[in-house]
Amino acid sequence: MASATEAAWRGARPDVGAALRSVHDTRTLDIRRGALADVGQVLREAFDDRAGFVVADERTFAAAGADVVERLRAVGRSAGEPLVFPGTPAPYPDAAHLERVEQAFASVDAVPVVVGAGTLNDLTKLAAHRLGRPYLCVATAASMDGYTSFGAIVTQDGFKRTIGCPAPRAVIADLDVLAAAPTELNAAGYGDLLGKVTAGADWLLADALGLEPIDPGAWALVQPPLRSWLERPDTLREGDPDALERLFEGLTLVGIAMQLASSSRPASGAEHRFSHLWEMEALDAGHAAFAHGFKVGVGAIATAALYERLLTRDLRSLDVDAAVRAWPARDALEASVRAMHANPVVADNAVSETMAKYVEADALRTRLVRLRDVWGDLREALAAQLLPAASLRRMLAAAGAPTHPSHIGVDAARFRAAHAAARTIRARYTVLDLLFETGLHAEVVDEVLAPDGYWGAGDA
Ligand SMILES: [Zn+2]
Repeated sequence: MASATEAAWRGARPDVGAALRSVHDTRTLDIRRGALADVGQVLREAFDDRAGFVVADERTFAAAGADVVERLRAVGRSAGEPLVFPGTPAPYPDAAHLERVEQAFASVDAVPVVVGAGTLNDLTKLAAHRLGRPYLCVATAASMDGYTSFGAIVTQDGFKRTIGCPAPRAVIADLDVLAAAPTELNAAGYGDLLGKVTAGADWLLADALGLEPIDPGAWALVQPPLRSWLERPDTLREGDPDALERLFEGLTLVGIAMQLASSSRPASGAEHRFSHLWEMEALDAGHAAFAHGFKVGVGAIATAALYERLLTRDLRSLDVDAAVRAWPARDALEASVRAMHANPVVADNAVSETMAKYVEADALRTRLVRLRDVWGDLREALAAQLLPAASLRRMLAAAGAPTHPSHIGVDAARFRAAHAAARTIRARYTVLDLLFETGLHAEVVDEVLAPDGYWGAGDA
């Protein structure tokens, strides 16, 4: 499918082909208007001409799934009856759905072909991996970066986690199908992409502290072009095809960066901790979930607001002794983490994630001394990486995405609590950890939530 790949990326950044050659999972990206017509050819060239078995939900089946099945039947490459989940409520990435998808795949000797975005792709990715089969993804909206990413996000007993598993071998994205998707789905994709601003800052932080070195290849795919992908949210909202293609290019390259790093680090920092926390809380409360990218967008504003306050400080004069004296012992920390989560399964998982990144007082001292030493350069790098919270808000609003916790069903009390609880649900180091370890967390959160702080002022 090289020719279609090249055609698809003509005029786009020249390093996409090279990026694709540098990863193992995804070999074919067929992204252009009318790409659905290639489905038989993709199966032939990327999957040894095996038959395909389609999984979709009612919405994605109507958007592209029926077309895919028809085209596969026309070339004698359709296996069994497609598995089509109800459109409402949308399928959830839990054990029951996963079981169903895996059983359906196991019942036919065929290539799993998922037609859909987020959850459907995650379910298929993990089920296909468990069966040891490569799969084909047919995108239906530019709604998130998971199409080409390493790993699937699933929920186990109410706790969301990312499970490492290969990306699809091939992705077909017909730009006509993406353009026909509900505009809010593409706005959600914009929110997910905008989250790479703060995710990049968190990676700079973890790198500078010697905790998680930056992978230069993965970084280069995402961060240098990020601002150009994000620069015209208004045109995306108007349905401009170029804007949609740019957005999809960005989301795709972020996914490839995750494949390169075998980690979601290139794509996910504190903004995703906020998002995943709110997702789990909504699940507990039985609320319909808002789009992933909408929560990431608000989480990115929250994270940027925290960074803004942090960067006003000169940590070269950080009182390391005071921070070490105030550092909680394991038992005290575990109790406080447990108290933050009403769902006992989430609490257990949060404790194990938090304890996985816990360091003893001596190690904390070493880390904070290092922070003091690197802060001059680090502060400059962070300032160059970040955008003001107010800019992120304007960009999201222009794209048609939510910009305030109340827009995604999070009230003021839960929003305040999220600043502490979000830190606990994953071992990955972010600005939330830096604030906690330096003893600045409470005062910085107070500052952003104060009447004259970012969230207190005006419409924020
Ligand atoms: Zn995301």
